[in-house]
Amino acid sequence: MIHTPEKSAGCEFLNVCDFFSEIMASVPQFSSKIQFKYCFGDFRICARYTYAKTHGNATIPEDLFPNASYF
Ligand code: SF4
Repeated sequence: MIHTPEKSAGCEFLNVCDFFSEIMASVPQFSSKIQFKYCFGDFRICARYTYAKTHGNATIPEDLFPNASYF
């Protein structure tokens, strides 16, 4: 039997993560690049994702960037 991995539909927090609506709202062109890299790509390396999996998505620091930098 051949195992075929399921296609990822993206980060499970897409509907609750407010990073793009709150922090990146003024730079939508940059947001799409981040979303492509993290949200619809390798979301498991996103600092916000890791934080949410550890502490819950209700307490993600609003200024925590996916690459783990704060502004
Ligand atoms: S920024 Fe991170 S936690 Fe938020 S939706 Fe994208 S991958 Fe998920």
